[in-house]
Amino acid sequence: MEEKKEKSEGKLLEETLLWKFPHIGKDAPEQIDEAGAFCEDYKAFLDEGKTERECVEAAVRRLEAAGYQVFDPAAAYTPGDKVYYVNRKKALIATTFGIRPVKEGVRINGAHIDSPRLDLKPSPLYEKNDIAYLKPHYYGGIRKYQWGTVPLAMHGVVVKKNGEMVRICIGEKPGDPVFCVSDLLPHLAAKQNERKLGEGIKGEELNIIAGSIPYADDSVKEPVKLLALKLLNEQYGITEKDFFRAEIEMVPAQKAADVGLDRSMIGAYGQDDRVCAYTALMAEIDTKEPAYTTVTVLADKEEIGSEGNTGMNSDFLKHYLEYLAQGQGADVKELLAGSICLSSDVNAAYDPTFSDVFEANNSCYLNKGCVLTKYTGARGKSGSNDASAETMARVIGMMEENGVYWQAGELGAVDQGGGGTIAKYVAHLNIDTVDLGVPILSMHSPFELSSKLDVYNTYRAFLAFFR
Ligand code: MN
Ligand code: MN
Repeated sequence: MEEKKEKSEGKLLEETLLWKFPHIGKDAPEQIDEAGAFCEDYKAFLDEGKTERECVEAAVRRLEAAGYQVFDPAAAYTPGDKVYYVNRKKALIATTFGIRPVKEGVRINGAHIDSPRLDLKPSPLYEKNDIAYLKPHYYGGIRKYQWGTVPLAMHGVVVKKNGEMVRICIGEKPGDPVFCVSDLLPHLAAKQNERKLGEGIKGEELNIIAGSIPYADDSVKEPVKLLALKLLNEQYGITEKDFFRAEIEMVPAQKAADVGLDRSMIGAYGQDDRVCAYTALMAEIDTKEPAYTTVTVLADKEEIGSEGNTGMNSDFLKHYLEYLAQGQGADVKELLAGSICLSSDVNAAYDPTFSDVFEANNSCYLNKGCVLTKYTGARGKSGSNDASAETMARVIGMMEENGVYWQAGELGAVDQGGGGTIAKYVAHLNIDTVDLGVPILSMHSPFELSSKLDVYNTYRAFLAFFR
């Protein structure tokens, strides 16, 4: 039998004083199966909602199945009541009323449901050398070269002259056709290879192929375009003029898939930030009679600066909170000052292949849990909310009381770039706010990667926050 060696003094001191975030798979292997089971409906949610409108519908289906009612500002609510409010079909707020009065503050969890994509221009359809094309203007921060030769699906709505709204979805059902942007063959790419990567495919080269057979009539000037439009007209009853009354988004046609031999990861389009939207929604639904009233926000337009009346830089959240205060005869200013908000958004996971843009001690890693991000921004935290030590302490406390695996991280090394979230718009309302979310590899690409253990622990963090 081997004699057990006593730990040295230095080893003991190391254990007491130093800190390293553990790998969940090593520390809590029982969570691997729990996380896998939790993520099955997450993958379905991603496939159901590839646009902000579809994502609102997927969320409403789950809320209604859980007994949520449409919010009525004039109604009186009691603890445990569950309501939701939809803003212009593109943003959503859900609430579970708490035991404590709202003047003591509410618990806000805000994620966004818009993702980078190729939006069609107002006049998108044209023909060139017997090929029909659709012209996009990209939405949000994309690396344009990543969007060539990727199968694309068409999602959107058209409001016809008579007011009728037509829904378009091509490329998702088995057997559906898809669309794509072409790229050069390597044999002829010598000149293109000289370009900087950011210009590998330029904005006006993101031309989406939509047809190649002409309408059989020699007197027609653009017969390939005409046939494409005829096919759209047969299916959706629309004409070229209807594109001016439309919102059509071209998104990757690929469905969410398990990644890796161990199925430990999920690869999918739009995980920034539907991964936080889904986990926030599930935590909202699974919260019964909380101490503090919950306010789960799924917002639009984050990827272009939270603009517009469905983005968080609009007053729709503030107005909703005013209704909550009014409903209990409270002053909304007290509600705001007493509230706390998780700005739930993804962060860049440390990528060993491109390690030089990260600072290893202050990066988040796959499989170490949800990431608490004190500040975002760029060039000296500019544009960041920069949460206070007190807010960090409160959120860390909530997670640790409930055994949530969490880690801390910043968005890349200093001066490598940066980014922002909805945090500053909520903090602007005089609400304590901090960013928390899921580490992502290949963020903003057509196929983003998350770890199931991180997704699961983000859900557990949101549950702890509402508890
Ligand atoms: Mn995001
Ligand atoms: Mn983003």
